[in-house]
Amino acid sequence: MNNLRSIEKIIPPPPAHMVGDGFRVHNFFPGNGLMSLQRMSPFFLLDYGAKVEYPPTDIPRGVGVHPHRGFETVTISYQGKVAHHDSTGKSGVIGEGDVQWMTAASGVLHKEYHEEEWSKKGGLMQMVQLWVNLPAAHKMDPPGYQPLRREDYGLVFLPKNQGTVEVIAGSYKGVSGPAHSFTPVEMYNARLNKGADVLFSFPQQYNTAFLVIEGSVLVNDDPVPTDFFVLFANDGQEIRLETPDESAVVLILSGEPINEPIVPYGPFVMNTKQEIIQAYEDFNNGKFGQLED
Ligand code: MN
Repeated sequence: MNNLRSIEKIIPPPPAHMVGDGFRVHNFFPGNGLMSLQRMSPFFLLDYGAKVEYPPTDIPRGVGVHPHRGFETVTISYQGKVAHHDSTGKSGVIGEGDVQWMTAASGVLHKEYHEEEWSKKGGLMQMVQLWVNLPAAHKMDPPGYQPLRREDYGLVFLPKNQGTVEVIAGSYKGVSGPAHSFTPVEMYNARLNKGADVLFSFPQQYNTAFLVIEGSVLVNDDPVPTDFFVLFANDGQEIRLETPDESAVVLILSGEPINEPIVPYGPFVMNTKQEIIQAYEDFNNGKFGQLED
């Protein structure tokens, strides 16, 4: 390969913090000073809930009503069930492998909880939440909601029983994913059997990273253990992913950067400070709608 994209950093999971009482997450970016604010643009935030066991409870754990504006929240469940309700009246439950892709855009209130029946039994939770930024031209679009079931993903069977690539957004080997995004985004789950040796290729300017969800892998010959994050330099296209020792699941993210100023504050991601002030004003004036706790 003469067009290999090199690894910029391999990042172990930073110390965990709780989001509400239901999501114990490791924030790979933009917190913790590991990467600059726009390093993974269009992806603005990645919270990773590594596997954790929640005991049974009659009162579901989670995060109460809160607003968002200016971006999309993409929640992937790997283990456990997450329920969502928002002020546009949309709601849904995602289970293992499913994705909920909420376009906050001009503004929604939502709440995110462990699903009620799942909570009564308790169990292992493992999830990812991404914030995907919106370009200025779409920040004030109407909100949207895409429930994406695992069976609806594009599915690529790798040759020689190496495993599968589930395409959530973008396309791999000509197979497209179901998610609508406002700027080019590639999002896949590589579910690899032991002994796989697979190439991925993205345009050089696309910001690109892997998150190892299960197992351990080699990335361009460097070992990467479970729960570690790999950030790639923008110096080539091809990435080699191998599983010499065991089967593995890897979340693959790549996207065309949005080259616009960014002003994030709390639950809002806008282009200017004035727009942040406006967001708080609109929120305080009830313009994000109504949602019961
Ligand atoms: Mn939220």
